[in-house]
Amino acid sequence: MRIPRSVTRGVTPRVPAPRSRPPRLRAHRTATAALLAALLAVGVTACGQEARGGSRYKPSGGEGGVIGLAMPTKSSERWIADGENMAEQFRKAGYETDLQYGDDKVENQIAQIENMITKGRRLLVIAAIDGSALTEVLRQAEDAGIPVISYDRLIMGSQHVDYYASFDNERVGELQARYIVDRLELGKPAKGGSESHSIELFAGSPDDNNTKYFWNGAMKVLRPYFASGRLVVRSKQTRMNQATTLRWDGGTAQKRMDDLISKNYGEERVDAVLSPYDGISIGIISALKSAGYGGKDRPLPIVTGQDAELASVKSILRGEQTQTVFKDTRKLAAQAVAMGDAVLDGRRPEVNNTTDYHNGRKAVPSFLLDPVSIDKSNTQLLVREGYFTAGQLT
Ligand code: BGC
Repeated sequence: MRIPRSVTRGVTPRVPAPRSRPPRLRAHRTATAALLAALLAVGVTACGQEARGGSRYKPSGGEGGVIGLAMPTKSSERWIADGENMAEQFRKAGYETDLQYGDDKVENQIAQIENMITKGRRLLVIAAIDGSALTEVLRQAEDAGIPVISYDRLIMGSQHVDYYASFDNERVGELQARYIVDRLELGKPAKGGSESHSIELFAGSPDDNNTKYFWNGAMKVLRPYFASGRLVVRSKQTRMNQATTLRWDGGTAQKRMDDLISKNYGEERVDAVLSPYDGISIGIISALKSAGYGGKDRPLPIVTGQDAELASVKSILRGEQTQTVFKDTRKLAAQAVAMGDAVLDGRRPEVNNTTDYHNGRKAVPSFLLDPVSIDKSNTQLLVREGYFTAGQLT
């Protein structure tokens, strides 16, 4: 869903102190630190972790340089925050940045990356619009010897993806589905023996590799309740490819929800909607309200979400959207900056998963952060963490 500039302006979550060493200190690295880094690198290799970096990208002298940051779109708050946080943190680590947004158009993003390669950017950090469309342009990056970090969304089909920084994407789906199960009290025996609830399912963009992880995580939790009949999808649209939402567009989700309601819910009401992203949730809620949900007779169903975007957190506080998943973009940016700095500095970045994110060519060494479920009861966490100010949430 396109978010008006007035909504996104000025809501970029505040940036914490960078984790990387200031360039000043880097220049004075002691022999002991160098030895330690070498030992760590050997240790990591000995553990069998596939990881490039090391001498391949070791700077030939001089620090800094320009980092290319290719982000997908400005239509969602989170990507604005991701780009700005990375730019700021890379700056503090001694680099300049070239931050580009592809406006959700694959060809724009490819042209932007080609341009970054031509301009000799030292490192590319890419959140792909279409995860499978970058194979050719990454070949050019490889020829130019420019390392690549896949940011949040895994780039598919290319050998030339050095590292991946993201959240535990399957866990995101699990948190959304677990929330629905808990709120509908499906864990308790049905009153009267046959109580069932209706649910409709939405998935993310079919060209985003994360989509299937969110979906699989959610289905793992929901499947037993479909099997027992405690949860019923009245539309029967239970396969991921029936539920996807191209480019995560809220308007597309709104139209699908209008359709689902008009074709499957007469007197019956929908009790829950699995939504993978806040912008989609906003579209779903608009459709529900147009169909008369939101009053005493027909309360809004449980609607999940993702990203803890300001408009959705406010919607949660108003009692409309029910849940979202908080993924602290400042921490993800810090991880990508630490990875990039290590690669350019000839060190091996820290990773915590070397098996689960296979892009069709290789298992990309990854660092996955933990997502957190948010509902009305714990929105204050976002203030305590400094993600929003108290004023923004009132
Ligand atoms: C990200 C989500 C985001 C979605 C839509 C996904 O790749 O992981 O955080 O909600 O894209 O922008």
